[in-house]
Amino acid sequence: MARPRSKIDITCQNHKCKYFLKEKGKDIIKRGKNKAGHQQYYCNHCNKWFVETANTPLYWKHLSEEEIITICKHLVEKNGIRSIERITGHHRDTIGRLLEDMAVHAEMMNEYLIKNLVLTPVECDEMWTFVKKNKRKWTPGARIGIRKVMRGSIQQ
Ligand SMILES: [Zn+2]
Repeated sequence: MARPRSKIDITCQNHKCKYFLKEKGKDIIKRGKNKAGHQQYYCNHCNKWFVETANTPLYWKHLSEEEIITICKHLVEKNGIRSIERITGHHRDTIGRLLEDMAVHAEMMNEYLIKNLVLTPVECDEMWTFVKKNKRKWTPGARIGIRKVMRGSIQQ
């Protein structure tokens, strides 16, 4: 049953789905609202319902998946915000906000990066250690996010 679909700018939120956070090839439909009044979505790949929540990394909408992966790789190589600005041409404020957003959703980021073989778990640890040092000001949400994924690596 093909019917015209309105453009949906959210990606699948199911960690187990092949299209988890994937823009390319996603097949998501919008359908109704839940009791709390949140828009509901349905993924045709994993057949799961979800609502748009604070779980959605915001910057996934502003930068492409490839750009985000590139930035993560630079972070593992210990390139700071300013060098990434120079290499990628993205403004340092954009990169700073991406880091903040990644930190808030650190667990989801790790899952995504490891699952898509962008980084190994060890590289993820290295990335967060570096990210944490690289940015001076973090929101409480970002601090909590980073702490969650750095359990093993904070031994001093
Ligand atoms: Zn899905």
